[in-house]
Amino acid sequence: MPQAPAPVIAVVGAGFSGVMTALNILRRSAEARIVLFERHTPIGLGAAYASHNPGHRLNVRAGNMSAWPDDPNHFVEWLRRERLGLGPADFATRADYGRYLQSLVTDIAEGPAGAGRLVVTPDAVTGIEPDGEGWRLQCAMGRSVTARAVVLALGNPPPARPPGIDETFAASNAYVADPWRWDATELPSGPVLLIGTGLTMVDMALSLNDAQPGRPMLALSRRGLTPLEHDGAPPLILPAPPANDLSPLEVFGWLRTAAAEHGWRTAIDATRPAAQALWRSWSPPQRQAFLRHARPFWDIHRHRLAPLVARRIAAMRATGQLALAAGKIRSLRLEADGFALCRWRGRGRGENGGYVFRAATVINCTGPAGDVLTSTDPLIQNLVRRGLAHPDPLRLGFDVDHDGRLRDVSGRASPTLLSVGPATRGASWEITAVPDIRGQAAAVAETVLAALG
Ligand SMILES: Cc1cc2nc3c(=O)[nH]c(=O)nc-3n(C[C@H](O)[C@H](O)[C@H](O)COP(=O)(O)OP(=O)(O)OC[C@H]3O[C@@H](n4cnc5c(N)ncnc54)[C@H](O)[C@@H]3O)c2cc1C
Repeated sequence: MPQAPAPVIAVVGAGFSGVMTALNILRRSAEARIVLFERHTPIGLGAAYASHNPGHRLNVRAGNMSAWPDDPNHFVEWLRRERLGLGPADFATRADYGRYLQSLVTDIAEGPAGAGRLVVTPDAVTGIEPDGEGWRLQCAMGRSVTARAVVLALGNPPPARPPGIDETFAASNAYVADPWRWDATELPSGPVLLIGTGLTMVDMALSLNDAQPGRPMLALSRRGLTPLEHDGAPPLILPAPPANDLSPLEVFGWLRTAAAEHGWRTAIDATRPAAQALWRSWSPPQRQAFLRHARPFWDIHRHRLAPLVARRIAAMRATGQLALAAGKIRSLRLEADGFALCRWRGRGRGENGGYVFRAATVINCTGPAGDVLTSTDPLIQNLVRRGLAHPDPLRLGFDVDHDGRLRDVSGRASPTLLSVGPATRGASWEITAVPDIRGQAAAVAETVLAALG
């Protein structure tokens, strides 16, 4: 009897999520073949690990950055073999982490487990449609590929345009819409307005200062909150996490008590293992309330800066080179000399609390825009138009079930069209960083293989 051909699984996007999903599939199946699509080269880096700037450090300690959930020391061992002089409590450069991921691809895809079964296709997928028992993927460069299953690992979309920025300003040279796509050599010298005060702003401030030391910067956000710093080695033993059935208010009560006893860093770290279960147990209004009132505070405590990075930012603030402010942009206007004139109002200030800032460049650092209905990405638009994808109730990403299966417009979860990574935030909330995504990538690999029998 002729053998059935080995199933082809398409993985779209080759950042951490896509690469680790592909490698987990190769590890678990001796037959499955994978076509891994990536629109930017080289693969494995995504927005996070493509930086060559040695000042751009991981914001998670090396001891928690293994790509494999079942081998927690894997990254630390790699650092040791590379003789980088870093241990589990240290913060490696993001460039080194990118090299680590690429070494995994080489080891597995070219080793006995995966040889010949991973095809990297340097192209953007622009459309997906049902095709018999599987899917047909359409690419930007014209090719079309069929696959029995598809995993979307599209990463974080660029930020949405903030209020106060009109079409004309957005189209001008003074505005950088995507903070991950600019070239320091092309920016005019002069002050920079950074819209947002989170991790993206920190990255931009470091890069801008490297390109032009001393460049003045104003970072503005509604609350002016910025990520706090890691401190010392983490405790070996953490308190037990909060129970999974606490309401958002009860969780904050729990955090306050735990912080008073163990310090806020330990309290937050203890909550992390329960974060996804807590989110899932909350009703949509409870999730909404968390996002509205607590998210900025959660984010700055949860996503912390490596000490080296925090020190550089503190030094820039101390000299006045970088100012952080809480407020709202009222208008941004282009002046005759190409500069931007920003009028903004301080938080909690009345009409008299108005300020102006003249910037040579304005960079949008407001963080990823998750709403798939307003996405300008051709693939996401295509999936929404076909009814194959739609937003989760809070519009944080795709509507998926707990296994990452995309729900179509009628609410039916597809067994062979899945998503992994930040676009599944609506179902899991904490699915931004490696310690969360690595487990999801392994689970999604198993789900896909089970669906294909
Ligand atoms: C600057 C930055 C620093 C970070 N630092 C850390 C850290 O220190 N520690 C940590 O744990 N996490 C960190 N993170 C979180 C990070 O998001 C995750 O660790 C992880 O890298 C996310 O990977 P991803 O594959 O989901 O997304 P991405 O890395 O964004 O990769 C998605 C990939 O999909 C490709 N793609 C998208 N659409 C298509 C298409 N239609 N066709 C083909 N290709 C497509 C994109 O080109 C991209 O390469 C950081 C994130 C950023 C942005």
